[in-house]
Amino acid sequence: MPDLQRIIDNIHAELLPQLGTGKVADYIPELAKVNPHRFGIAVATVGGGSYFAGDAGEPFSIQSISKVFSLTLALGKHGDALWSRVGREPSGSSFNSIVQLEHESGVPRNPFINAGAIVVCDAILAGHRPREAIGEILRFVRSVADDDTIAIDPAVAQSEQKTGFRNVALASYMRSFGNLLHPVELTLGVYFHQCAISMTCRQLARAGLFLANGGHMPQTGLTVVSRDRARRICALMLMCGHYDGSGDFAFRVGLPGKSGVGGGILAVAPGQASVAVWSPGLDEHGNSQLGTRALQLLAERTGWSIFG
Ligand code: GLU
Repeated sequence: MPDLQRIIDNIHAELLPQLGTGKVADYIPELAKVNPHRFGIAVATVGGGSYFAGDAGEPFSIQSISKVFSLTLALGKHGDALWSRVGREPSGSSFNSIVQLEHESGVPRNPFINAGAIVVCDAILAGHRPREAIGEILRFVRSVADDDTIAIDPAVAQSEQKTGFRNVALASYMRSFGNLLHPVELTLGVYFHQCAISMTCRQLARAGLFLANGGHMPQTGLTVVSRDRARRICALMLMCGHYDGSGDFAFRVGLPGKSGVGGGILAVAPGQASVAVWSPGLDEHGNSQLGTRALQLLAERTGWSIFG
C-alpha cells in the first residue's frame, strides 16, 4: 500500500496555491454563500485505513453526489424494473438539460442527470409520504457512512425549493409523459432535500466504501448491495457521474466518480478505497476544478485505475 497520508498531504500542499479558481455555484442562492477557499481530501481504504488533509472535516452540501445513494436505495426497492423509467446512457448534456427529454418521450438518459434523479426520487416516494421518503434516504446515507450525525441543511433545501424552476420544468414535463407518478411538488420535495444533505469528506469517503468493497461495508461486514450491483453503479458513475464532463473525468482520473455542484466528488477505486474531495470552485460543466485535479494526481501517484 502506498504511503497515502504523505501522498494526500503533498497533493493538498501542491494545489493550495490554486485555491479559489473556478466558479462557486450561485444559481442556488444558499450555495453562493460558501467560502470558495475550501479544500478537503479524505481517503477510506477497504482495509480500514482512513487518511485526510485540509478541510476534510467541514460539512458541505453534497448535492448530486446524493444521487448515488438514492439510486442504490431505489434499486433495492424496485430492482431492474427501475430501468423502464430511466436509461443507462451517458447524456452528453448539462445536468439540468431538458432537450433530450422530448426526443426520448420523458425517459431520462440516466439516473445522474437531474431528470433521472427526479424519477429515482419518485420511485422511492412510492407508498410513502415525502417526509418518510426523505427520512429513508437520510437513514440509508447514515447507515452506509456508519454515522448518525449526518443531517440535511434545511436552508439549502428551502433555497432550492424557491429557485429550482428548471427542476420544476423537468418534473412537469416528465409527468406529462406519465413518467412521474406523484405530484411534481411532492417528488421535488424529496429531491431537493436529498440534494441538501450535508457531509464532510471524511463521512462521504466512508459512505462510498461499500462500492469499493464489492457491495459490503468493510466497517460492519453488512451487505448493502450484491457485487454485481455495486459494479453496475460504478459503471454508471464512470459514464454519467460528471454530466457532459464525464468523458474527460474518465480520461484524466480513470475511476468511477460522482460530482455535485457543492464542489464535492466521490470517487471509487474498486478493491482499494473510496475517496472524497471538496473544493467549491467549479469548471464549465459544474464539476469541482481543484477536486478533479486532486483526484487525477491521486490516481497517478497510487496507480489506482479501473483500466489496469
Ligand atoms: N440540486 C442541484 C440541482 O438540482 C443538483 C445539481 C448538481 O449537484 O449537479 O440543480
